[in-house]
Amino acid sequence: MNKHILVTNDDGVLSPGLLALAHEMRILGRVSVLAPDRNWSGGGHVKTLDRALRVREFLLADGTTAFGSDGAPSDCVALAMLGYFKEPIDLVVSGINVGANLGHDVTYSGTVAAAMEGTLLGVPSIAFSLAGADHRMFTEAGRVARMLAELVLREGLPRKTLLNVNIPAGLPKGIRFTRLGHRVYSETVRKEVDPRGKAHYWVGAGPPLWEREEDSDMTAVHDGYVSVTPLHMDLTDHQMLQKMAGWQDALATKRSPRPGKRRLTPAKRTGSR
Ligand code: MN
Repeated sequence: MNKHILVTNDDGVLSPGLLALAHEMRILGRVSVLAPDRNWSGGGHVKTLDRALRVREFLLADGTTAFGSDGAPSDCVALAMLGYFKEPIDLVVSGINVGANLGHDVTYSGTVAAAMEGTLLGVPSIAFSLAGADHRMFTEAGRVARMLAELVLREGLPRKTLLNVNIPAGLPKGIRFTRLGHRVYSETVRKEVDPRGKAHYWVGAGPPLWEREEDSDMTAVHDGYVSVTPLHMDLTDHQMLQKMAGWQDALATKRSPRPGKRRLTPAKRTGSR
């Protein structure tokens, strides 16, 4: 019954957030660490196909052994689960990230992408992020991570579902189960000129603004609660798909055959008519 837990992150294998997470996971089972050898924050869901991946051994600050790869966080998870470690993995945990991953951050976040990769490979996976950059808070955040990981090890997660957990700065008031909030985009592009007179650009320099919605992850963390959001890997908009049944006819009438070309066979209609 000794569970094998994979610990990874996107801040790099030597991040204090990973150290805190690995420390707590060792209370729950056997831990293997395979994480990027540099900071991949904002790297999103990556699959490196154009080059080989290298893995080096690292010694963490607590004297434990970890492995660092020159791949992305999602590459590390694939590598770990598809054979780098001989024994099968029962749980993937990613983090604890320095800084929250709320709302649409989840599509940019390497922390969340690592958990997504674990989910796609069929193992329960959780992403952990700490709001703010106060490293002293990793100890408390680690405890929260252990509680949730223990629950997931016991109860499991449905297929294609992962958990995105954000921990507030300071002592949490409690836990809220939330949905993704909405950022109010104030993104900007700043143009600057380098010493050689060439222009370059900085994107995303706007202040982080958000809408206050009662059940959102952003509101929970802002109010001082741990936010736990279940995410699903089926990104299909099922409501829209239903509405698109009517598009078949609209597209069929607009499509005229090109001169000299064979007429296209209309696609099979779905739904009863
Ligand atoms: Mn990060």
